[in-house]
Amino acid sequence: MASSAFSSSSSASSSSSATTPVPFPLPHPRYPAKFTSSLPCDELSALGHGDGEDPAPYSLLSTPRMIRNAVYSYINPENQSRDAFLLSWNREFAEVIGMDKNKLERTQWTEEEYENVVKMLTGGTRTLPQTESSQSDKGPRLAEPWALCYGGHQFGYYAGQLGDGRAISLYETVNPETGMTWELQLKGAGKTPYSRFADGYAVLRSSIREYLCAEAMAALNVPSSRSLAIVSTKTMVIREEGPEPGSIVCRVAPSWVRFGNFEIFFYRKDRTNLRKLAEYVSQEVFQLPKDNPQEMAEFAKTFRNAEIKKPIDAAEIAEAREHQSPSSRAATAAIEGAAEGAPVADPQHNAAKHLYRNRFAKMFEEISRRTAIMVSGWQATGFCHGVMNTDNMSVLGLTIDYGPFAFLDKYDPEWICNHSDSEGRYAFQQQPGICIWNLSRLALTLENLIGAQERVDDLEWMQQQESDPEKEEHLKEAAHHVVVEILNKSFREVFLKDYRERMNAKLGLGGPEQVRNEDLAKILVPALSWMDDYEVDFHQFFRDLADYKVQDVEGVDQNMEQVEFFVKKLLLPAIWQARGSTAVAESKSWLKAYHSRIVESEELKDDQQRRARMNRVNPAFVLRNWVAQKVIERVTESVRKVRGGSEEEDPDKDLLDRVLWMCQHPFGEDGLLKGAADETRVDVGAACEVRRNDVGLEIYGEFVGPVPEWGQGIQCSCSS
Ligand code: AMP
Ligand code: MG
Repeated sequence: MASSAFSSSSSASSSSSATTPVPFPLPHPRYPAKFTSSLPCDELSALGHGDGEDPAPYSLLSTPRMIRNAVYSYINPENQSRDAFLLSWNREFAEVIGMDKNKLERTQWTEEEYENVVKMLTGGTRTLPQTESSQSDKGPRLAEPWALCYGGHQFGYYAGQLGDGRAISLYETVNPETGMTWELQLKGAGKTPYSRFADGYAVLRSSIREYLCAEAMAALNVPSSRSLAIVSTKTMVIREEGPEPGSIVCRVAPSWVRFGNFEIFFYRKDRTNLRKLAEYVSQEVFQLPKDNPQEMAEFAKTFRNAEIKKPIDAAEIAEAREHQSPSSRAATAAIEGAAEGAPVADPQHNAAKHLYRNRFAKMFEEISRRTAIMVSGWQATGFCHGVMNTDNMSVLGLTIDYGPFAFLDKYDPEWICNHSDSEGRYAFQQQPGICIWNLSRLALTLENLIGAQERVDDLEWMQQQESDPEKEEHLKEAAHHVVVEILNKSFREVFLKDYRERMNAKLGLGGPEQVRNEDLAKILVPALSWMDDYEVDFHQFFRDLADYKVQDVEGVDQNMEQVEFFVKKLLLPAIWQARGSTAVAESKSWLKAYHSRIVESEELKDDQQRRARMNRVNPAFVLRNWVAQKVIERVTESVRKVRGGSEEEDPDKDLLDRVLWMCQHPFGEDGLLKGAADETRVDVGAACEVRRNDVGLEIYGEFVGPVPEWGQGIQCSCSS
């Protein structure tokens, strides 16, 4: 049955009729895709695309090879549609990309539509649905899926050509209501020219992790790629531990371009394609206008011959560091990202004010700004990515390529979630600094374009500069000033501002307009360092702090009963027993400042309201590694039962849908009950239910609450 979560669809053959419109509920494609029609394609893979020639055979196209002069290769997903079935469908996101409102739910699809969706998501059909603009007597279009060619720095070293080894973009779609472009991509779709030594598949466990976490991040207001669907395939995938069930995620982003897309051309000294890509990203991805020739001429007249002699600016980022314990230093580092690659104050950085910022400088600025917001979201939600290689850095500042990620359990700034990261390069506190390092790698590729300033469109002049090492050095020098300024203003300052605002809200200290810089040193840093010292759970801390009451209490000293209760609840029993009294005493170091900061303001003082506000930004449900682990085990077992033809009633058959729901509604606050038949209880299955209690709403269920002993700080490896 098409509507059942685990229904098996025996796939028909892949040859759909070329003339009958296909019943197909997925959103309509833009044909041809703007990306592929604007950028250079791998020549071998382009055969048969519109030029009347025969396409190269799949076996040849999917053979690993070096691809030059191209941003992408056309490649069809492998047909894995036989016995594939939909494991979960993200109705909420389907609406965001503009799907037909009457087809948002799986239950609204006909059996044929269901089968067509599954086929499209598993490489079983290449036929795109007809749209009004694509209607012709030739019938539906053929999809022209593609894989990206990119390089990247992996763990600090440039690794050469990488590319989409198992991800294939199906098509672009534009939501007619919002005008937003979305690119649908399959992960685990089979081999591409970029698969190198690997198989092109994804295992169920890693697909479940990506499917759920992308949605969890979006709900936590952290920029991320999104998930539309997850499909179970019959493919058995061989990994270190043996054969595992295969799966494909349909993931979606406005663009999948990564820093590594620029790097591959830079290291191959392919300036032509580097420029083509930069033009495309600045215009199509960021909608930056072409530089205005008149403005550039004006600038040249005023500044070109002017000497750059400006006084040295004092270093701008000087945070008060009163507390010098190792853990508070670590907490400060986690915030400021004072790690490898952080920009140093450039003695001439005011020089940048006399340099023309062309569209490529603006593009770099926008990428820096977005990356800062992304990583501030990571630090504020306790998210550790695990593989921040430059091929995993989206130019849109989206969290992408979910692998061995983890949300923190206990607060530990040095936490390494990736088992393979032995040196802790991507440890939690390193993340902001690594972003700067990665942005610097990207900047390197754009130096000539940025450094050329107002002459960037004078191609003859550009060529002269680039063919003379001394002249090229001048371009790089000019670019350097601009880049340092951008990293300081558009990364560091944006990061600190956004992080302060997020943490202010998490602590219940009001909106962005109520941020006070001194709170960082007086409240946040000591609170984090206290959490580190006493192994306090990062997420529970904020939920419990929301229960702290200041009403009718003069100060912390008059509130000790409550403080003790709060600390005891947060500490593991063994730690409470051994060091409970010091933990209580030391909590006062920041609680005093916290308490007085709250009582100063009429708006913050109201305990009920503060609690409600805090609980709207601090999740009650977190997709911790132990939760993901449990979900994976049970879904895998369900899949096994379906594939084994089991007739038994399976209580977990829609577990993935239910956990997806939790990821999308992590706060358990007002609004959840709206529309529910029984206004005190929303049943979303055994894994999770929402009830009204005396202080509001809470999410209850087996996946919320203290981390079980076996589940503390689970690490994952890169193998997926
Ligand atoms: P990741 O760090 O997971 O983003 O992957 C790094 C590189 O390895 C990318 O180029 C991936 O496309 C590629 N890759 C990872 N797993 C596979 C696989 N199973 N088959 C083909 N390529 C893969
Ligand atoms: Mg990757």
